[in-house]
Amino acid sequence: MTELLANFAAGRWQTGNGPGTVLSDPVLGDALVRVDCTGLDLPEAFAFARDRGGAALRAMSYRERAALLAAVVKVLQAHRGSYYDIATANSGTVKNDSAVDIDGGIFTLGQYARWGDALGDVRVLRDGDAVKLGKEPVFLSQHLQVPTRGVALFINAFNFPAWGLWEKAAPALLSGVPVIVKPATATAWLTQRMVKDVIDAGVLPAGALSVIAGSSAGLMDQLQPFDVVSFTGSAETAGVIRSHPAVAHRSVRANIEADSLNSALLLPDATVGSDAFNLLVREVVREMTVKSGQKCTAIRRILVPAAVYDAAAEAIGAKLAGISVGNPRNESVRMGSLVSTAQLHAVREGLAALGAHTDMLHDGRARPLVDADPAVAACMGPVLLGARDADAASAVHDMEVFGPVATLLPYRDLDHALALSHRGQGSLVTSLFGADEAALADAAVQLAASHGRVHVVTPDVAQTHTGHGNVMPMSQHGGPGRAGGGAELGGLRALDFYHQRSAVQASPGVLASLGL
Ligand code: NAP
Repeated sequence: MTELLANFAAGRWQTGNGPGTVLSDPVLGDALVRVDCTGLDLPEAFAFARDRGGAALRAMSYRERAALLAAVVKVLQAHRGSYYDIATANSGTVKNDSAVDIDGGIFTLGQYARWGDALGDVRVLRDGDAVKLGKEPVFLSQHLQVPTRGVALFINAFNFPAWGLWEKAAPALLSGVPVIVKPATATAWLTQRMVKDVIDAGVLPAGALSVIAGSSAGLMDQLQPFDVVSFTGSAETAGVIRSHPAVAHRSVRANIEADSLNSALLLPDATVGSDAFNLLVREVVREMTVKSGQKCTAIRRILVPAAVYDAAAEAIGAKLAGISVGNPRNESVRMGSLVSTAQLHAVREGLAALGAHTDMLHDGRARPLVDADPAVAACMGPVLLGARDADAASAVHDMEVFGPVATLLPYRDLDHALALSHRGQGSLVTSLFGADEAALADAAVQLAASHGRVHVVTPDVAQTHTGHGNVMPMSQHGGPGRAGGGAELGGLRALDFYHQRSAVQASPGVLASLGL
């Protein structure tokens, strides 16, 4: 029988009293550990976090809480090797892909520790200047931001068990808001281990951080008016969260990151073999293969001028053909597995549905796997599809296949390309490739309305740009419409979600005493 991982709730380690769900190695098929939270006293867990954790965090200044984040960074760095081992075993990722999750999470925490330190020894944040409410400056309005007096519940997706926790926990803890994380079951082990290391190190106040792994049943029912919930996952579950009474009737703030049909766009003046063309090809291949395409920001639709469609198909296909797929423990493997066989089946089903609207341009599925048994491993080579009639291929604009799959689409002119990009109905990110700075800037502004981030790649930033799919803490992560309407990160903007803005109307003397 595999180990049953404990939950950390109400300030103590507690195992569920059910049989648990087994987490597996998606490459070897081995059972690894089990998670379960049956029988946990959820009201007690939430009250402990809200009351004990919240009070302890709010008693500190932003600088003191920033120091907590810095201490968490040290703990995680000390155990980094074990996180890579868990990622290899439970997520089937090669080292570079595990780094995106593990080191990406640690980097984000470190960044918020620095930003938080710069906020200083204050407990309240000033929001703009005081403005007079009458003719004379004798009675004024001063907006301020105070930490919300609730708990932050994170319901996370399977693809980022490390980063998905810390990119949210960093701004929450810095804001003075305790965190309860419910990781996706398939990859809950890494989240649980990181929380365990931080708790065991004793660097956070009691109640500041809890982990509940297993079923999500009953979690949303615990939420009270000043709590917040961050959800990352499918559009379907997002609908369940949005319509839950906590959100619908108790005004619990919800940040939703759902699925997204991100695009890459090669501008009309780019010719075959130009720098912009080559940069697009390189980025598309990277996005299709990093974490086997299981990134919410991955490029799903590639928009190119009709004149370069065939050459783009050939160039992307040629590079994809060089990607070795299989057991991530083998040093020669570039792309590991999908997260589970269930996910592999979901991708196969999605591909079959897209197949009705597209042509096969490159099929990496036929290639032999390295060091992995195709009957067991959830590995799959990359697939490039194409649709010569981009308008008619409606499924390509509607259906996210969460794996190493993308579709090449030709466009007539820039207006057509922008219209196709907007057909994603709101996405996390789009990237633009070209050399004409004015045309790129204009396209960026036009696409900003339907994208949380616009990533522009010109030849001069070929070596320095941060990557289409890389979520940097300095930039906003989240998109409108079907991407969920959420907004995370973006520097200190992330703190807004965990604060209440209030306008204090008072005399200059009272406002001066606020200590802002
Ligand atoms: P999912 O089924 O919606 O699961 C996401 C999370 O919700 C998991 O923790 C899951 O727990 C939990 N959950 C499931 N049913 C629930 C319910 N009724 N009430 C409350 N929580 C519930 O999503 P998935 O298919 O695993 O994740 C893949 C999707 O996530 C993709 O579509 C991808 O686009 C999206 N994603 C988006 C982003 C982003 O930032 N926008 C990032 C990563 C992934 P269990 O695991 O225990 O079922």
